Amino acid sequence: MVYMQSHIWKLFCIVMFVGLFILGFFTYELKNQIDSRYELEQENIARVISNSTNKMLSQYEVTLDVLGEYLIKDDTYKDIRKSKEMFKKLLKINPSIADFSLVNPNGRLYVTSIDKSIDKLPNLLEKKETKNSFEQALKSDIIVLGRTYFHKTLNTYIIPMRKVIRDKNLNILAVMVAGIKVKDWHLLMKSNNIYISKYKSFLFRDFDYYMQLIPSKNKHKKRYYSTNIPEKYVHYIKTLIRKKTNIQINGIKSKGVILTIKHKRFIDNQEVLSSIEYLKKYKLFSVVEIPYSIIKKEFYGRLIPVYIFFLLIGTFIFFLFFQLSKMVIKNRKKLEHQAEHDYLTNINNRYYLSKKFDYSKLSKSFSLMILNIDNFKNINENYGNKYGDMALKEIGRRLYKIKKEDDILVRYSGDEFLFIRYCSGKKESVKLAQKIIEALYSSYSIDLYKFSLGTSIGIAEYPNDGENFESIKKYADIALQEAKKKKNCYMFCDEKIKQKHLRYSLIEKELKTALQNNEIYMMYQPQVRSDGTLYGVEALVRWQNEKLGFVPPDEFISVAEQTGMMVKLGQYIIKTSLTEVNKIYKETNKRFQLSINISVKQFEEITCYENLLNMIEHTGFDKSLLTLEVTENLFIEDIELVLNILENIRKQDIKISLDDFGTGYSSLSLLKKLPINELKIDKSFIDDIETNMDAMKMVEGIMLIGKQLNMTILAEGIEKIEQKNILDNYGCDLFQGYHFSKPLKKEALLDFI
Ligand code: C2E
Ligand code: CA
Ligand code: CA
Repeated sequence: MVYMQSHIWKLFCIVMFVGLFILGFFTYELKNQIDSRYELEQENIARVISNSTNKMLSQYEVTLDVLGEYLIKDDTYKDIRKSKEMFKKLLKINPSIADFSLVNPNGRLYVTSIDKSIDKLPNLLEKKETKNSFEQALKSDIIVLGRTYFHKTLNTYIIPMRKVIRDKNLNILAVMVAGIKVKDWHLLMKSNNIYISKYKSFLFRDFDYYMQLIPSKNKHKKRYYSTNIPEKYVHYIKTLIRKKTNIQINGIKSKGVILTIKHKRFIDNQEVLSSIEYLKKYKLFSVVEIPYSIIKKEFYGRLIPVYIFFLLIGTFIFFLFFQLSKMVIKNRKKLEHQAEHDYLTNINNRYYLSKKFDYSKLSKSFSLMILNIDNFKNINENYGNKYGDMALKEIGRRLYKIKKEDDILVRYSGDEFLFIRYCSGKKESVKLAQKIIEALYSSYSIDLYKFSLGTSIGIAEYPNDGENFESIKKYADIALQEAKKKKNCYMFCDEKIKQKHLRYSLIEKELKTALQNNEIYMMYQPQVRSDGTLYGVEALVRWQNEKLGFVPPDEFISVAEQTGMMVKLGQYIIKTSLTEVNKIYKETNKRFQLSINISVKQFEEITCYENLLNMIEHTGFDKSLLTLEVTENLFIEDIELVLNILENIRKQDIKISLDDFGTGYSSLSLLKKLPINELKIDKSFIDDIETNMDAMKMVEGIMLIGKQLNMTILAEGIEKIEQKNILDNYGCDLFQGYHFSKPLKKEALLDFI
């Protein structure tokens, strides 16, 4: 899930990255597109302007040529009146022209349309502003423009034009001069449909970079016309051109191309896009420019909505992913909760324990309690699983109430819970255990049923009882087994319990190889009639181990039962007993009863009955001489199944004896149902039969029941003649005990017989 969540954000990043990439690409393309559109448009305009400038200048040239030649021819210019009349006529036809003058090659005026005395007008070769261009005009065959200046009387800017007039031998006769009104030039442009407000057109001359013409509404007019373009700036422009086209400026001049560059204006540092064309004939640069801010405005005007759109989409996608990730987190938490909690009680489960509890790093001391509900099985059996579940839920609730913040509470299995508390000492553990027992004991009312439940608790403490979690858990488990014997109590894992466990483990280990090492053998204890004659023997198993010495059967039988070794051991016992006793029959030529103890675990084996019959057949033992001793706890489990097996056994003429009678829970009604031949009164009643009235009454009762149900009564554990006598008086049929004989090895039994 974490993996998935991180992937969601990775995916989001990819989506955003792709989006940004597309956006970047779009921005780049848009800029290129707008730039080149403006460039193209501007270059077209520049071409038109250049053409019309060329056209206008050559028209003026023709006018000046014609006029000049008219004035020179026959010295017409000397006739002032005639000249002025001609001037007047031409000025009327060409309103863009402010004045005409005819100047001699030395700069002195011959005649002029200006209403001023010629003497008062300056020599063009002597005046600083005019000298350069006049000299140029003398060297040139075409029209040469002078510096644009402000004409006070006409209140307008004037561009002077000079054109040399030559004779047939190309000798200079005079220079024809005219002033063109800048205002009218603009009007002319306008009439040619090439005046577009956002584009501005400039004209400056090549040889000294003085401005010839600037847009009519330019606020820097005065500065433009009075200074030439600074050298530094020219250099800057040249560098830009070289960078863009890789051509030197002279190359461009000769090729007559239009070149567009982005640069900063020298006058006000404003960024502009300029298209420059060189008018080769008149040695003029024609420039059309547009403030770059206009292009930028259009660019941003189109870009910003797209960015806003992207931002909106991005935000939307972000929220989408945010929701998705929230959902994933929620799902993960839910799954985590499910994985870590028990579905029924909603308290933590084993998985949580393995995940949250760092077994390898135990540092703080803690107390581990394993809780087991006493006889919980009965609830399921008596009321049904539904009520069992409800009870478990209630148990979970009660335990959860006791749980503190850093306690660990886990439903370990069915009715087993695990409680870990970080605490310092036994006192605190005792308090907690008592609290738990009390809380779980108080009455449960589920639907119409009311009951209470006992709890057995096994407690082990870290670090007192073990150095790792596994051993602590094991000791708590051992303590629990002890507590379960008493029920509704807690038990610490003390040294005695630990020793017991140690021995248990040792027995378990050694028992595994006991049979193959021939450590197991049988002894037989005689059972006699009232008159002392031999009735039969009880086969009793013995184990002599190298490490453990003699291990009493009570001890190792229970280990065998709990560790699954009983079936194999039981088979060995039956087979050995049948074989050995059969041999004694043959050797002594006497027949007597053989009692064999059968464990509950042997009955649980499905093939138990078949195995028994097989062994009897195999040894050829007389079935009617065989008694199987069973205990009452056999009937705690599936009574129908057990009854079925017992009845089958009875049909085979094998007898059944109920061992340790009186210590278990069997009732008279149950006893009536059972196909039993013999009741064995437990030794504990016999021990104090002489002194204890209760024991005596109990024995009397058992006798009565037995007689009533037609059963043989056998008393075991008789050590004194007095005990035998009392039992004899009650009518006991058979007797067994040290008074008659201890269990004997088969050789000793032969002697006994
Ligand atoms: P149990 O079946 O009640 O066996 C009788 C026990 O009482 C035997 O102890 C026997 O030696 C002892 N006993 C008999 N008379 C006297 C007496 O006068 N005084 C005293 N103090 N004890 C007497 P044992 O052999 O130690 O067996 C103990 C228990 O071990 C048996 O109790 C039985 O439950 C189990 N056991 C023994 N052998 C086998 C076996 O072959 N199979 C099974 N399944 N269990 C066996
Ligand atoms: Ca027995
Ligand atoms: Ca017994």
